[in-house]
Amino acid sequence: PFDVLVVGGGPAGASAAIYAARKGLRTGIVAERFGGQVLDTLSIENFISVKKTEGPQLAANLEEHVKEYNVDIMNTLKASELKKTDDFIEIGLSNGAMVKGKSVVLATGARWRNVNVPGEAEFKNKGVAYCPHCDGPLFEGKRVAVIGGGNSGVEAAIDLAGIVEHVTVLEFADTLKADDVLQERLRSLPNVDVFTNAQTKEITGDDKVNGITYIDRETNEEHHVELEGVFVQIGLVPNTEWLDGVVNRNRFGEIEIEKNGATNVPGVFAAGDCTNSAYKQIIISMGAGATAALGAFDHLIRN
Ligand code: FAD
Repeated sequence: PFDVLVVGGGPAGASAAIYAARKGLRTGIVAERFGGQVLDTLSIENFISVKKTEGPQLAANLEEHVKEYNVDIMNTLKASELKKTDDFIEIGLSNGAMVKGKSVVLATGARWRNVNVPGEAEFKNKGVAYCPHCDGPLFEGKRVAVIGGGNSGVEAAIDLAGIVEHVTVLEFADTLKADDVLQERLRSLPNVDVFTNAQTKEITGDDKVNGITYIDRETNEEHHVELEGVFVQIGLVPNTEWLDGVVNRNRFGEIEIEKNGATNVPGVFAAGDCTNSAYKQIIISMGAGATAALGAFDHLIRN
């Protein structure tokens, strides 16, 4: 068995593995796709001390750094079950195999919910974006839309309104779902239009985004807005479904953790976008990965 078995090979998992290995612990990583969301990212300009990098480059650097240590990397394998026995934590894999750890760090990350309209996949990173903290500055002085009028959509719109020329908010339902104070703040901004009952039909473009088409669900009329960017803000879904009934999760599906990364299951720690941590960013996930590995180390020396 491993001393520390990490599930997930994104920034959180890589960081946890390095911290564990540096404690001399026998460490393994199971990852469906080593690199995680970073692989889908074009330009990264907020990974402090690296002025600018690209997702695939950072993912390669993560792997190279992990390989400096004696870490078993089990890539392209998906965990589908977690079982606590008296001595170990067993992780069942989708290929039928099982791996064991004296402790486990869950770092399975999250995925942005897609709107699934024509143009979304085609223009990903070519105008279609998901993370305002990450990609907002790339649209400085341009026009953008935000799809989604919940808290994250309205927060994104307020944030973006300070950077871009104009923001159009499209909400499918007949009202915004965001907190009142956010809605008030949004409506006070001069460069924001809000449309409710708006069903996004298509994101248009040539080699990059040039507009968005939506249907007014009240009148059935179709509208087109010319713009350069679309932020999809209809939810970040943690990759934690497989832990249902075993590891405590909140109503968003995020794993609930203590300040040392511990979950409700003794020996099981968690880090990064799959948890209830505030804000989801590379640098935050890496810090959380380190915390969880140190938490696991503390657990091991006491048991
Ligand atoms: P992830 O990166 O999601 O990694 C999860 C890992 O777990 C992956 O290896 C995955 O394959 C694996 N996994 C999932 N389920 C299983 C399973 N059942 N079994 C085994 N393995 C599994 N952040 C920034 O700081 N700056 C940016 O510029 C930036 N830009 C972004 C742009 C885009 C398009 C996106 C999508 C995100 C961006 N982010 C950015 C956010 C950042 O990528 C995430 O916060 C960060 O990657 C989270 O790290 P993580 O390790 O927690 O999870």
